[in-house]
Amino acid sequence: MGYIELDVLNNADPSLVMGIDLGTTNSLAATWRDGRPVVIRPEGASGSIPSVIRFPPDGKPVVGRKAREQAVADPSHTIFSIKRFMGRGLDDVRDDLADFPFPVSESADGLLQVDIHGRLITPQELSSMILMRVHDIACRTQGGAQIPRAVITVPAYFDDAQRQATRDAARLAGIEVMRIINEPTAASLAYGLDRTAEGGKIVVYDLGGGTLDVSILSLEKGVFRVLATAGDTRLGGDDLDRALVTLITNGLAEQLSTEDMADPGLQQAARLAAERCKIDLSAHPEAEISFIVPHRGIHFRRQVTREEFEELVSALIDKTLDSCRLALSDSGLEAREIDEVVLVGGSTRIPAVRARVEAFFGREPHTELNPDEVVALGAAVQAHILAGGSRDMLLLDVIPLSLGIETMGGSVSKVILRNSTIPCQATEGFTTYADNQTGVDFNVVQGERELAADCRSLGNFRLTGIPPMPAGMARVAVRFFVDADGLLRVTAREESTGHSADIEVHPKHGLCDADVDRMLEESLEFAREDYEAGMAANLGTELGTMLRACERNLEAARAELDPESLADLEEAMAAARSVADSGSLAALQAARDSLEVASMPLAAALMDDVARAALSGKKLDEV
Ligand code: AMP
Repeated sequence: MGYIELDVLNNADPSLVMGIDLGTTNSLAATWRDGRPVVIRPEGASGSIPSVIRFPPDGKPVVGRKAREQAVADPSHTIFSIKRFMGRGLDDVRDDLADFPFPVSESADGLLQVDIHGRLITPQELSSMILMRVHDIACRTQGGAQIPRAVITVPAYFDDAQRQATRDAARLAGIEVMRIINEPTAASLAYGLDRTAEGGKIVVYDLGGGTLDVSILSLEKGVFRVLATAGDTRLGGDDLDRALVTLITNGLAEQLSTEDMADPGLQQAARLAAERCKIDLSAHPEAEISFIVPHRGIHFRRQVTREEFEELVSALIDKTLDSCRLALSDSGLEAREIDEVVLVGGSTRIPAVRARVEAFFGREPHTELNPDEVVALGAAVQAHILAGGSRDMLLLDVIPLSLGIETMGGSVSKVILRNSTIPCQATEGFTTYADNQTGVDFNVVQGERELAADCRSLGNFRLTGIPPMPAGMARVAVRFFVDADGLLRVTAREESTGHSADIEVHPKHGLCDADVDRMLEESLEFAREDYEAGMAANLGTELGTMLRACERNLEAARAELDPESLADLEEAMAAARSVADSGSLAALQAARDSLEVASMPLAAALMDDVARAALSGKKLDEV
């Protein structure tokens, strides 16, 4: 209730919200301006921030381009591809660990953590540092405006734990998540495909730095459904770079032993040089790989032609088309039934990739927008819609994977089927299997497979306090509720006796509230001051917006407030004014909370007015 009221009061300014593409390689923010989504970029820069963090031995961590540049000199303290770790456990990522020059472990409670200078940091905290940087740059670029609310995108296949981890990262960064949406849905929104009258079938081919995601969506009456997703979490531009690195390795084979070649500094320099060459080859028929490794006395140079590069990566492009084939067959569609093809991700700038995808689907793909920016732009469209901007459509999305409960024998009883439109809820009945059983253990799983062991466990919980009764008599109703972000809440109730218990499922590899609080509390010492200053600035702006809205609306609705509510509100407004510029986080928080409560009667009166106008005289509570 409080949210609706505050939105009314804030009279949300759509330009003050943003969409964030939190990417594996790069992250980017966009907002809505002058009737269209635009990328937020400092003057003369691309706006794209490498999702890389370097931790110097002393001093503050460095996020973005500088961190990426320093990776060569300090590979084991430079963290990249954090997205691959979000919401995952050690078992999920074990095969990937060889790709990372920094140590990753799992805590006793199942959280992944990276060891940096002896300090254990979770992927959520690392991602939050990237989000803070995106946010800071956005604020500075927007002339000091604070933008604490955002829509954040995730891959369509992200399960609940991964979405939750993303949400937690935003929370740690002090950003209020308006909605988490699927990247292919965002890309389709950026191209305005939601506004094509007849809807249709859309393929989003997203080849980024580290991952390939192929999604087939159907769009019908403003509802995007994910019909199928396929892809490879270990196939992307980095692999194309690696293909070029083989040229370097071969070129250096006579000069260096295998051991010398494993030098992390050399590897990183070679990788960056290969990437530069690959990017040049998208624009030129020929380019050079060139790099220096001073401590090894190496200055490597080699010309590469586009044809040579295309031959090197042809098998990798074939592999991406295999994923397209798989997604098509999973969705029961033929390539010719696809109406729109959208290209996303920096690697779709490669002419050979475009040509092969076009030939495969027999349809010219959308490439008008910058493929690095499409997802952020679409997220900004969604943020604009949610902030009450134009586009009188309700955007709905669907859950990507079925949600269920493990039953006796290890099979899965699905409670909510994949592709259900969110928000949604469903209830499933369970019972006891032993006489006098007073507790039931539940394992909540997500996935399409029949056996729980093959699905992803989101968490376990136990319903206790069931009165002793014969086996099969207890009636336990388990209700799953998936909110608009695709996040799950579960409640359980023993119905024959009315005994009930509400249970929160804590994702296995996620943070519980206490974790988040602790992390916020301890925060990374080096980031804390910045963080508090940022939070205080955000709160100051939020408080200012609330105050102005209260002042504006109070004049209109003063007569409708009872004297006590009016006095409370005026007192809270006076308190808010007195601390608005104080910069004190605690004072601002207290003032914001008081004003939020004290302004509720005003919001109710305003809503009543709006409803009365709309419903010609009926009171809201009569509707
Ligand atoms: P993304 O994850 O979408 O940010 O994509 C990053 C990937 O796109 C990296 O592997 C980049 O090397 C690659 N990339 C960016 N620009 C180009 C380009 N012009 N040609 C080829 N690859 C590119």
